[in-house]
Amino acid sequence: MAEEGTPTPVEERDDELATEAGEPEGVDQEALERRSAALAEVVKFGDPVLKSTASPVTVFDDELAAEADRMIRLMRDAIGVGLAATQLGTLRRMLVFQVGSEAEPTVLINPEIEWRSEDAATAEEGCLSLPGVIVDVERPLYVRARGVDVHGDPFSLEASGLEARVIQHEVDHLDGVLMIDRTERDQRKGALKALREGGTYAPEGDEEEGEPGEASTEE
Ligand code: ZN
Repeated sequence: MAEEGTPTPVEERDDELATEAGEPEGVDQEALERRSAALAEVVKFGDPVLKSTASPVTVFDDELAAEADRMIRLMRDAIGVGLAATQLGTLRRMLVFQVGSEAEPTVLINPEIEWRSEDAATAEEGCLSLPGVIVDVERPLYVRARGVDVHGDPFSLEASGLEARVIQHEVDHLDGVLMIDRTERDQRKGALKALREGGTYAPEGDEEEGEPGEASTEE
């Protein structure tokens, strides 16, 4: 399960949410190269931008649409399930996610989580900006979010399971909050040490716990 800054193919966890699980299957050399190229464009832990709050998007033009397309491409190339603009060093409230290869990618701009369930679950998460690190994070199982699309048209969506988790993880990025800010103290310490030393970190033991269920709850 360990993963390094330098890709060690197949063994590597996906990042933007390890919850989604599993090593990329049947990933060929070309895909791995695309993945490294995409990861090279993602801002990593230590950059102050990751602790900053992003500003609402006010201009809906071709440039914004092109940026959304770029984010989707990078998310897919990186074999992630979500990406926030902050992770590309752009402080505007914009995120993309795609949970499951069958799903269409969604671009959510100026997102607001307007409802969270009381039911919560703990599962492992990874992050493209925190390579090599996996921590347990407890989050509500269901959310309803609203925002606008690239044209500025409002829409809302309900999500559960992994999809709900991804949306919350990405909205956190827009508020300068990282998954290590939401994990328990020991895990945060372990993760910070790994990030400082360029090592890896994962919670002890039970790495399967909660995950298959979590992954299969996505609709
Ligand atoms: Zn992340």
